[in-house]
Amino acid sequence: MKTEENMKKKIITTTSLIAVASIAYYLHKNHVPELINLKQATQEFEQTHDATMLEKRKQQIFNYYTTDAFEKDVQKVYTKALKQFCQLTVTPKSLIIFDVDDTAFYNYQYRDDAEFIWKHQPELIKARQTKIVPAIKATLAFYHELKNLGFKTVFVSSRNQAVYDEYYKNLTDIGYHDFDKLILMPDKLAFDQNIKTADWKLGIRKQLAQEYTIVGCVGDRTVDFKGGYTGYEVKIPNYIFE
Ligand SMILES: [Mg+2]
Repeated sequence: MKTEENMKKKIITTTSLIAVASIAYYLHKNHVPELINLKQATQEFEQTHDATMLEKRKQQIFNYYTTDAFEKDVQKVYTKALKQFCQLTVTPKSLIIFDVDDTAFYNYQYRDDAEFIWKHQPELIKARQTKIVPAIKATLAFYHELKNLGFKTVFVSSRNQAVYDEYYKNLTDIGYHDFDKLILMPDKLAFDQNIKTADWKLGIRKQLAQEYTIVGCVGDRTVDFKGGYTGYEVKIPNYIFE
C-alpha cells in the first residue's frame, strides 16, 4: 500500500516538475523583451552572445518601424510640444530649429545594419534608389502647425555641404516650405574626424541666437540638443541609433 502511495507521489512530483519546466520554457521562448535600440541590442549581443535575444530585439525594432507605432510615438511627442509652443507669444524672431535626418525625413534606409527593417518598406526601398526620401509624416504635420502659428524655421544637419542642393530639393519636394535656412556642415569640417557633431551644432545654434530667439529645437538624437541654446527640446524616438 505504502509503495503504491510513494509511486503516486513520485508521479505527481515528476508531472509537476515537467509542467513547471514547460511553463518556464514557454515563457522564456515567448517573452517579449523591452524595446531597446539597435545599437544597444548589438552591444548586448557582443557581451552575452545570446543570438536568440538579439533576434527578439531586432524583431521588436522591426515591428516598431513597420507598423504605425513609430509615427504614433512621434505624434505623441509633437502633441505635447505643440501645447508648449501655443502658449508662446510669437515674434518675427521666434525660431524653431529642426534636425533633418530621421527627424524631418527618413534616412535610416541608407544604413546597411538597418536593412532588416527598411527592406520591408517599399517607400524606403524606392527612396534609396531615387534619393528622394519621404517625410516623417508626424514631423511634416507638426512643421506646418508651427508655420501656421508664425514661427520661423531653420534646418540644421551635420551632412556635408556637397548634398545641399539634394537636401534642399528633397525638403521642399516633400512639403517643407518657407524655411529661413538650411545649414549643412562645410565639407572641410564634415570629413574631419575631430569635429564632433554636437559641438558643431551647438556653434550653429549660438550663431542663430544672435539673429533669432530660439524657442525650440526638434531632433532625434542627443547631439541635436547638447550644450543648450535650444529653447524647448523636442526629442523624437530613434530606435536605430539611440
Ligand atoms: Mg537626425
